[in-house]
This record gives sequence, C-alpha cells and structure tokens, in this order.
Amino acid sequence: MSIERVPQATPLEGFRRYQAEYEDAALDVLRGGHYILGPQVAAFEQSFAQYLDQGDANGTVVGVASGLDALVIALRALGIGAGDEVIVPANTYIASVMAITMNGATPVFVEPDKYFNIDPRKLESCITDKTRAVMAVHLFGQACQMDKIAGVCQSVGLRLVEDCAQSHGARFNGQMTGTFGDAGCFSFYPTKNLGAFGDGGAVWCRTPELAAQIRVLRNYGSSTRYHNDVVGYNSRLDELQSALLLVKLRHLNELTEERRTIADRYNAEIVNPLIARPECADGCEHVYHQYVIRVANKQMRQELQDHLGSRGIDTLIHYPIPPHLATCYRSLGHKRGDFPVTEDMSDTILSVPVFNGMSSSQISRVIEAINEFK
Ligand SMILES: *Cc1c(COP(=O)(O)O)cnc(C)c1O
Repeated sequence: MSIERVPQATPLEGFRRYQAEYEDAALDVLRGGHYILGPQVAAFEQSFAQYLDQGDANGTVVGVASGLDALVIALRALGIGAGDEVIVPANTYIASVMAITMNGATPVFVEPDKYFNIDPRKLESCITDKTRAVMAVHLFGQACQMDKIAGVCQSVGLRLVEDCAQSHGARFNGQMTGTFGDAGCFSFYPTKNLGAFGDGGAVWCRTPELAAQIRVLRNYGSSTRYHNDVVGYNSRLDELQSALLLVKLRHLNELTEERRTIADRYNAEIVNPLIARPECADGCEHVYHQYVIRVANKQMRQELQDHLGSRGIDTLIHYPIPPHLATCYRSLGHKRGDFPVTEDMSDTILSVPVFNGMSSSQISRVIEAINEFK
C-alpha cells in the first residue's frame, strides 16, 4: 500500500476552507453578465490598495493579467527600454529578468545575502551611467532590506520596482512590501500567497499618473474606446478572478498566520545538524511563500530529496538554473562562476511543503522525515 503524499504546495485545501464563499462570488459574476474590467476589478483594486497602504491610502492598484505582465508593464510605464540597465538579483525567478529584457533593457545581476535576497552592500558597485532602475525581489516571502535599497535609489536617482509575487502581506519595518518604490508588482498565480483560480496580477503605483499609464497599457494602449494612443497589451484582470481574489483577500491575514504557524513548527522542530533552516532578517515579517532549507552540497541535496520523496514528501528546487545560466540568456554572455553565491544556493536549497490547509500530521511527517535524514 502506498502512503498518501504530502504535496509541496496545493491551492485545493485553501479553496475548500472557504468553498461556499468562493462559489457564491463566482456565481454572482457568472449571472451578472459582466466579465472583463467591471465592478469586481474596481472593487478588488481598491481593497488591495487599502490592504497595502494600511490606512494612509496613497497608492493606486491596477489589475493586470499576470505577475510577469505587472513587471513588464510597470517597467515600460516608467520609461525603461533599450540602452537602459536594470539591477536585479541573480537569485530570482526568471520572470523578474524577462520583464527587463522584454522591454529591451539589460539586466545587471547582483548576488544575494544569506537571506536569499539582493545584497544591498553589493548594489552601489553595479551602478553605471546607464543604470535606470533597481528591481527588488522579496524572494520566498521575506522582504529585502528596503531602507538600504530605497536609500541608494533615492541618492542616485534610480527608479525602484518591487517584485512582490511571493510577498503578499510581508513587511519591512512595518511597511508593506510593494509600497517602497515607484511600483510594486504582484502575481496571483494559484499557489502564490494571494492566489487566484487562474492567472492574475496587479501593480501598486505610487502616483496616479503612473496608474493611469498602466491602465492605458493594459488595454491596447487605449483610454477611450477605439482611440489608441500607444501600442499596448491585452493584459486585463477578469471579473471572475477579481471576485474570487476579494474573498481570499478578506482572509489573507489568517492565511498568512497559518503559514507562519507551519514555519514556526519547522523552525522549532527541525533539529537535524545537516540541515540549515531559513533565517529571518531584522525588521522582516516573513510570510513563508516557501520554506527553504539548505544542505552542504548538491549531492547531499539529491539524497535529501530522494529520502523525502521515498517517505511520500514532495519537494521542489526554487530554482535549479539561475537566470544568468538559462539557455534563453546565453546572449548575455555569462558563464558558471560569474555569480558563485547564487550558483551555490541553487545547488543546495530545497523547498519543503508549506501551504494553507496543511494538516498538523502532514507537518509532523515532514519534520520527522527531515530529522531522520543522515
Ligand atoms: C510567480 C512569479 C512571477 C511571475 O508571476 P506570474 O503570475 O506567473 O506571471 C514573477 N516573479 C516571481 C519572483 C515569481 O515568483
């Protein structure tokens, strides 16, 4: 008899918890007859802005079709294009980098610190006379050192864009990620902390002018129907996803607490000396999009992944190939050894299960299996 597997992540348990609310919201939209850019999108944009701004509502949120689109359109609206350099962590999901190159700009990679995020001490040495922006990625649900990063951007006059695809609700010194710079870009991919039931994304904009530009760009470059000012995109958040996101947003604080409770148990109960637990930086409230452990080398990582797999525990590597070594970026001319901290991370990290609705016996199984590894 095979044991029941513990998935690395699944959106299904989270759906079940509020199933009736989701189904009611979906039926209302289906029966309402308005499916694209209607009242649900407007309501979600407003609620998410309130959630991010926590009272002093300064920013404006614009819904788009995905996290990648949020990044692409935000950079474009900030005027970043060919000939410009954008500083980005070497240790990130490739979407952060694609958003830069899709705009014709050049990514300049910076190594991470021990918290997996861009190392602010290495930022200034990457700045050239072509640098136009910094993209901070709050990887795995932990904020970057935003005081230092925003300080550098302000002193040099660089745009600051945040990739918050993994950091919904994560704060730095009490302030929400996504609200430190010019634009904060979110993904609502189903397994993200604020996940939809399909693709979706949004941009938090510091100024109403930027928000207005993004509204035009997301809808064929048009602010008045059939009048097209610029060549834009079809990148709209739909009504169904917005209605479902409104339901999840109402529960996001308790969902985040649940992720923290799982991580707290891992932090307290994973005691295998071969395993390094993730560290939490000063000022950061981690939202544990991923719980990423580390071992000494790549072979041991393979043995650990096999060991856990044989005990029915699914794991993933975020990410096995750093962007500078991806086939699609061969033309950038990087080689193995260019970013050794990033490369070593990608060889030694492992993301263990963490998801809303994870049962306490599932958590215990993960902990026991990790502690049994030798
Ligand atoms: C998921 C993710 C994205 C892209 O979001 P999509 O909605 O899948 O387009 C971008 N950056 C990071 C760090 C992500 O994790």
